[in-house]
Amino acid sequence: MKQIALFEEGIGRTPVVRVSGKYGPNHFFIKRDDMVPFSFGGNKARKAAEFYKEIKKSGADVVMTYGSFGSNHCRIVANMAAAMGLDCHIISPEEDSGEGADRKKEKVLYNTSLAALMGAQRETCPVSRVAETIEHRKESFRAEGRNPFFIMGGGHGNPGTESYVKVFREILDYEKENGIYFDYLFHASGTGTTQAGLVCGKLLAGDEKRKIVGISIAREETRGRQVVKESIHEYLGEDFDRLYQEGDLVFTDAYRMGGYGRYGQEIRETICRVMKSDGIPMDGTYVGKAFWGMCRYLEEKGIRDKNILFIHTGGTPLFFDFLDAGV
Ligand SMILES: *Cc1c(COP(=O)(O)O)cnc(C)c1O
Repeated sequence: MKQIALFEEGIGRTPVVRVSGKYGPNHFFIKRDDMVPFSFGGNKARKAAEFYKEIKKSGADVVMTYGSFGSNHCRIVANMAAAMGLDCHIISPEEDSGEGADRKKEKVLYNTSLAALMGAQRETCPVSRVAETIEHRKESFRAEGRNPFFIMGGGHGNPGTESYVKVFREILDYEKENGIYFDYLFHASGTGTTQAGLVCGKLLAGDEKRKIVGISIAREETRGRQVVKESIHEYLGEDFDRLYQEGDLVFTDAYRMGGYGRYGQEIRETICRVMKSDGIPMDGTYVGKAFWGMCRYLEEKGIRDKNILFIHTGGTPLFFDFLDAGV
């Protein structure tokens, strides 16, 4: 099979592994979405696979997106465009603050090098001028007779949500085949598309009991929750009112550690423990932080003897940045 055909035929299932019992009095499993077999995988590869079909349909000859050049999203989009033989144009924020910012300004992240390797073009603008810069660039491409396709930052939007509705179905299939039920799903929540997809999957399946807990890696609760809810609404359309209840959405900002890209000693230790005990790499910005937050959450709420599925959302290149920063 051609590698790019992954996007046409579906990227298939990722493994679910049982991990050592060192993380508390529950049964822990990890769904290895970091092993999606394209460009170091992760949830951005899942989302990109859905956008791939839209890009094909549109007949675009240049793929545009917004985000930090050092983000997992931009790496994947740049790589996918290159694999499709299309140009890629990335608009990045000038400011090194908030989401999508490089963790260490002075250091070139591996994702940055990879996006550059793919030949992606980069254009920067102040955060306050993002919308007009995108519009302006689209217009100038069209004026040259070209056909741009724009993917929202982080792979936000219905195709991105759809990719995790599918993951939820994968989880249901896994449960049926293996005679297990996961009481809780945990994952790192950023722009909220991953969580929106999982929650939509749950609502559409009429699966009432299970809890899906998004551990915020950056946003505070009010805004973070609101964005996830809007994505759920956008995806479900008129079924939203019938299916959605506030209790279906658990988004906690209790483990942000001061915001995007910040992590302290406890998270560092958690990442090292998981690598040593189970051989699974996690980064400090997303997955390591969320895994640590999950352990704290379960402990604080006194949850025991449950089957817990943690979704590893990828970010493997950031694991190497984590090592470079000195463990
Ligand atoms: C982007 C990202 C997330 C957050 O996903 P959202 O859909 O934006 O909430 C989590 N983990 C990793 C590794 C990511 O790159």
